[in-house]
Amino acid sequence: MSDRRVPVLIVGAGVGGLATSALLAKHRIPSLLVEKRREVFIYPKARNLSFRTLEVLRGLGVGDEVRAVAAGVSSMVVKPTLNSTDQRQALDVDALFSGMAELSPEPAAQYCPQSKLEPILLAHARKLGSEVRYGTELLSFEQHDSGVTAVLRYDSNDLETVRADFLVAADGVHGPVRQMLGLTTSGYGPLPIYVVFVYFRAPWRTFVPDLGDGDAVQVENPSVQGIFVSVSDDRGMFITTYYPDKGETVTQFTPQRCSEMIRTAVGEDIDIEILQVAPWQPCEQVADQFRCGRVFLVGDSAHTMPPFKGGGANTAIQSAHNLAWKMAAVIDGAAEPALLDTFHTERHPVGSFSARQSLTGPTLKMLGLDREGPGLPADEEAPMFNLLIGYRYRSTAVVAADEPITADPNALLLVDGLRGQPGTRLPHAWLRRDDHRVSTLDLVGHGFTVLTGDAGAKWCASAAVAADTLGVPVSAHSIGVDGDVADVDGQWAATTGLTPEAALLIRPDDVVGWRVDTLPKDPDRQLCQALSAILART
Ligand SMILES: Cc1cc2nc3c(=O)[nH]c(=O)nc-3n(C[C@H](O)[C@H](O)[C@H](O)COP(=O)(O)OP(=O)(O)OC[C@H]3O[C@@H](n4cnc5c(N)ncnc54)[C@H](O)[C@@H]3O)c2cc1C
Repeated sequence: MSDRRVPVLIVGAGVGGLATSALLAKHRIPSLLVEKRREVFIYPKARNLSFRTLEVLRGLGVGDEVRAVAAGVSSMVVKPTLNSTDQRQALDVDALFSGMAELSPEPAAQYCPQSKLEPILLAHARKLGSEVRYGTELLSFEQHDSGVTAVLRYDSNDLETVRADFLVAADGVHGPVRQMLGLTTSGYGPLPIYVVFVYFRAPWRTFVPDLGDGDAVQVENPSVQGIFVSVSDDRGMFITTYYPDKGETVTQFTPQRCSEMIRTAVGEDIDIEILQVAPWQPCEQVADQFRCGRVFLVGDSAHTMPPFKGGGANTAIQSAHNLAWKMAAVIDGAAEPALLDTFHTERHPVGSFSARQSLTGPTLKMLGLDREGPGLPADEEAPMFNLLIGYRYRSTAVVAADEPITADPNALLLVDGLRGQPGTRLPHAWLRRDDHRVSTLDLVGHGFTVLTGDAGAKWCASAAVAADTLGVPVSAHSIGVDGDVADVDGQWAATTGLTPEAALLIRPDDVVGWRVDTLPKDPDRQLCQALSAILART
């Protein structure tokens, strides 16, 4: 048994853990990520990424690789059998995201399945110096004042003790860490919707030669209902449901029955090799605490949601984004440990809201399963805008003079637009710098960023003072006619309503941390104060 020490130990190499590893590495924090699986997940679960996730990946430096996977979102057609020429569009995906195109430098949504995203994140994390070990299981851990001590077991059965400042539990919905901590959860729990994933190999794509890699075919006839999804080459996934209240069980899905079912769905007698049959139930379950001492829950371990609005992986990556810079700032000594409390304060309302909103969604209705689960009252269903980006954090890591009072401090504060309000994602506007088109989001580096206008030279000087005084990276840009970045068509000014002497302080996760609409007499002091408050140094 050997001993070693790492700043952060991450458990679970799904998208949540891999994103945490890569984002910490962006902030130059080394981590050890352990995964009990022996290799990257080869089947697509999460398939589409929202623009907010694409922005996080753009900031991480893997935007081009993700964009190279595909253009557009996955679509689905409905057919009586796979070999039939009759078909209709199952879902108008563009309508779901209508009005969102202007909100981001990235497309509103894009197909990039987990099976493609995980290798991209893995390679990037390793390139930046993070260690990722497959075939390695967390067996147990204990936490004490100075850190966490964990016991790992390798494939070889060798054990190793690792000490870490922090443990990130990205170990999924059934992961052990939350249970070991005895943390309670809220939410509906497993929904009474019983799904089977049948992974197979067959020449099924010859019947749908125009099917894009990300596209799916729903087959609907009196004998069989299910969805064909492409995995790679001739591998496919057939997703179907069963009904225990009619006496059906997953054990009835023998390889022979699955082959017959797929042949019926294809409409031809083809050779089929069944690779795996996996049962699954969607689940709405949110941990009541995302932090327990030195342990932080990220992804499905914190907030599991049904996939009906495609939110699980997206929310996982966005939670990792929220946590990584805070953890890095605390490890670097730039922030006090209290900053880490704001991970729960900010992300728990988002996780709960997203999970509840995901009790319903277009795919559920389309599959006719909306009568099976608890559903969501129609008047509670929020616009996709709110789910994707239309909310405001309230925590000590946001300095807001106008913080609205709501009845429930744990409820997510929704907004109807992004205008540079403290706690919201920095609004996107296209700008021009050195003959290049850049988004406001491209101005945010790995530290803090001050954005001001043509009359904001003092803010730019204050940014340098604050960086010097507090020992944190603070860059500054003036956006306007005479600034270093040109607001060519006035989109930035119109969206934010900022005057040329106003300023926004942007956190490393693109969130507006502080807004000041007039130039005070003492901008140096005020900026230092705001930054200190965000970093919990007051
Ligand atoms: C059918 C389906 C469709 C979906 N569609 C979408 C979609 O379109 N969009 C979307 O955003 N989301 C979607 N999701 C949800 C998405 O897949 C999950 O939310 C996401 O994968 C969660 O990632 P994670 O990293 O938190 O957890 P996981 O991907 O579950 O990863 C957890 C990892 O931890 C490992 N682990 C567990 N215990 C240990 C241990 N003791 N030691 C070491 N490793 C351990 C596990 O092996 C696992 O690899 C879908 C899910 C399903 C099932």
